[in-house]
Amino acid sequence: MRRSLLKRRQPLSAALGTLMDVKKQALNLPVGNPKPKKLIESTRKFHVKQSDDLLPLGGFQDAPLAQELSENTRRLQNVRNALIERPSSTRIFTVANQKGGVGKTTSAVNLAVALAEKGMNVLVIDLDPQGNASTALGIEHHIGVESIYNALVHNIPLTDLIQKSPESENLVVVPSTLMLASAEMELYPLQDKEYRLKNAINLYLQTAESTPDYIFIDCPPSLGQLTVNAFTAATEVLIPIQCEYYALEGLTQLKVTIDTIRNRSNPELALSTILLTMYDSRTKLNMAVVEDVRSHFPTQTLQTVIPRQIGVAEAPSYSKSVINYDRSSNGAISYMEAAIEIARKGINHG
Ligand code: ATP
Ligand code: MG
Repeated sequence: MRRSLLKRRQPLSAALGTLMDVKKQALNLPVGNPKPKKLIESTRKFHVKQSDDLLPLGGFQDAPLAQELSENTRRLQNVRNALIERPSSTRIFTVANQKGGVGKTTSAVNLAVALAEKGMNVLVIDLDPQGNASTALGIEHHIGVESIYNALVHNIPLTDLIQKSPESENLVVVPSTLMLASAEMELYPLQDKEYRLKNAINLYLQTAESTPDYIFIDCPPSLGQLTVNAFTAATEVLIPIQCEYYALEGLTQLKVTIDTIRNRSNPELALSTILLTMYDSRTKLNMAVVEDVRSHFPTQTLQTVIPRQIGVAEAPSYSKSVINYDRSSNGAISYMEAAIEIARKGINHG
């Protein structure tokens, strides 16, 4: 019996071909192209070296990698076919969490690119002196470049500061430079200090050539004057939460700040969206964190969870979003699914 199953197995080269075809379909490339000579040779060598006994009985189609590839192909197709409508008015998201390194920038950047690719007009405002969102979106932001600092401190209109991102023709960015680090101090004596960004955005909405459907404001990891400006300017707060033990710690402080802003300067501000990031399905702790967050924020937490995946971390070093760096990867598809979910969900007041 075992012998006959072994006999019916695909040869390794055929299985590799099938795997390549699945990946090509995901990337919309022609399937079954003849391989360059070099690749054929190296595949042959690989074939010779492998022991047949190492192959799973069901052949490569049943291997976890093949399953993941075909699942990703299906999800990518769904994402491509998904239709979303423009919001009736501009949705302004502040992406905030005073905890560092939880995926604020990664989420702002990739959600923005995903929505822009779906035909939405998107503006990203980099409000972090680190300038990570500017880097990931391929935007110049060395000292000397006019940035969000000039809008906040010197009232320069955003229309004079925006740069087009190579990521999508529908995506523009107001960059940040290290100059922004001094803005907190410079804003402090001003009477309208927490309204500076709101005023700049309002002017932009009245004067921009094409009104944005979505604005994402990428905040620094603090609850200082910059983040207060972002909360005052936004219609919604999006909190990325990393799936780890201390996930919910600090959220109380964040909610207190949001409530204070609601009472003082922006009564309409909604904590609409929580996005779980860097999820690793192999650990029980990650699953427990997901359940915990969902039980605290049942309406705000997105169904889509972003997996921990190396491509997501590599993409910024190529000045790219993961969506343009490795579109058929689990991380890229998850961000596209999250963007569609956000577009369809609308605002839920939290
Ligand atoms: P900061 O508070 O410093 O602004 P942040 O909250 O904006 O940080 P990111 O910069 O988006 O967080 O992410 C922190 C690090 O984790 C980065 O190196 C990023 O590339 C990496 N990272 C983010 N999301 C993922 C993911 N899903 N898989 C793997 N690495 C990730
Ligand atoms: Mg960041």
